[in-house]
Amino acid sequence: MPSPDAPISGVKSDPQGPGHPPPDPSLTARFAPSPTGYLHMGHAYSALVAWNAARHAGGRFCLRVEDIETRRCRTEFETGIYDDLRWLGVTWQGPVVRQSERAIAYADALEKLAGLGVVYPCFCTSEAVRAEIADAYSAPHGARASPYPGTCRQLARTEQNRRIRSGKAHALRLDVKKASVMTGPLTWRDRVAGTVKADPESIGDVVLARADVPTGYHLAVTLDDDFQGVNLVCRGDDLFPFTHIHRLLQALLDLRTPEYYHHPVITDASGQRLSKRSRAVTIRALRATGKSARAIRQMVGFE
Ligand code: GLU
Repeated sequence: MPSPDAPISGVKSDPQGPGHPPPDPSLTARFAPSPTGYLHMGHAYSALVAWNAARHAGGRFCLRVEDIETRRCRTEFETGIYDDLRWLGVTWQGPVVRQSERAIAYADALEKLAGLGVVYPCFCTSEAVRAEIADAYSAPHGARASPYPGTCRQLARTEQNRRIRSGKAHALRLDVKKASVMTGPLTWRDRVAGTVKADPESIGDVVLARADVPTGYHLAVTLDDDFQGVNLVCRGDDLFPFTHIHRLLQALLDLRTPEYYHHPVITDASGQRLSKRSRAVTIRALRATGKSARAIRQMVGFE
């Protein structure tokens, strides 16, 4: 376990995002942690980037708990999120949205996508699918080494039905190529990267849902940002590649496209991304050593 005083790097000197945008009371930013562990400095940084962006614009900041992967989520971690954020001085407006309470919205969207003919059942091993979903929710994010090869995309409808009838477990995937043809070329705006041309095929046919989870990360995050009226998505640039898919889903589902600010990810002194897996020192542990909230904010470049 690293010491609470271990130096961190990767903190940007301009945490509001480049260019100090003018006031905009309609700006809505968010922080969307998964309660699979206690918050660490990387989370503190990300939350403060979003909170500060909202505060400087005179806009709104909201909170979402991404607790769809119930096997890995724990109530104590969720309580810890609220507690650590309040202690840090990060306050949110409106009710907290919990993904575990949004199953109906996800099911409706899936139905809409299926109606467009861009969803297919995938019978590849549940371990592979599970690992893929877990990867999308935790470190290291980034683009997967190689997109799903499309094994089950080729299956004839009769074969799909036969396997489903026989009770074979399956996930639902997005046919990205077909969907992209349908939407035509897409772009989004990022505060760091500028105008970005969407290239969802670089990520491939993501899992939208599986039997035991009503939705995967991509569908949930895209729907929820729209649901909460988020028009500035601040998150680590390790998630940048996934925005290609989110942009495609927005177009398919007639959702608004927010502006993005993919901020650099904080690392430890050796350049390793802070993560729950690398057992980065938690805010909670830092609090226990007597560090003040102000000291923590300063450590990640605020104040
Ligand atoms: N829930 C994700 C995480 O904790 C963040 C998702 C997002 O910001 O889009 O890594």
